[in-house]
Amino acid sequence: MATNTDSLSKRLVWITLLIIAAGVLIVLISSQRNEASQDIRLGAHPDIEGQPTLGEIGAPVSVVEFGDYKCPACKAWDESILPQLTVDYIETGQVKYSYINTLFHGEESGLAALASESVWNQNPEGFWQFHKEIFRQQPPSQNHDESWITPEKLIDIANEVDADIDLEQLAIDLVNQTYIAHVMADQEQVQAFNVSLTPSIVINGTMVEDPFDYEHMKQVIEEALEEQ
Ligand code: CA
Repeated sequence: MATNTDSLSKRLVWITLLIIAAGVLIVLISSQRNEASQDIRLGAHPDIEGQPTLGEIGAPVSVVEFGDYKCPACKAWDESILPQLTVDYIETGQVKYSYINTLFHGEESGLAALASESVWNQNPEGFWQFHKEIFRQQPPSQNHDESWITPEKLIDIANEVDADIDLEQLAIDLVNQTYIAHVMADQEQVQAFNVSLTPSIVINGTMVEDPFDYEHMKQVIEEALEEQ
């Protein structure tokens, strides 16, 4: 009898331990789900046809930034996150990165977007230097509401980068709004994907909750690579 009781107690102890372990597992799983659910599965990925794209066109994972040249957070993202993404994934051929103009800061956003489309169409190789330099010359964030993007400023920036940009053509394109249809096509995607903040980052159809959480972005990229 004593043996049976012992064995029963042992079984009860094991059952209790298993119940506790299962409880811990459920808590762990549900917290991961909560964390993951902060990202938004879009059901589709933005169309990157005709968009400036860095990296190998056949790269399995596409990262899209909805960005605005007048947005301080976009400057910060370009200067802090993009360089890491470039070294870790773009240069290795795993990720291609595309930029879609998002006009959340009025006329100046539109002007910079028009200039970027002009430079992209005349000189795709030089585009990224121009793109980076606009962000670099964005005034410190406490002054971001002050006006600084003008046609003259954009032409100066194009002149300063070593990218062989046709300045006369850029000036004509800004006056004539040559690439307004491209800028408007970008805005259609902004609306289609309910973009409400810049930068918004989409990785193979998943809009990440925090574009500055690079470790989490890496997880989403790794999962997308595993799905290939
Ligand atoms: Ca575009």
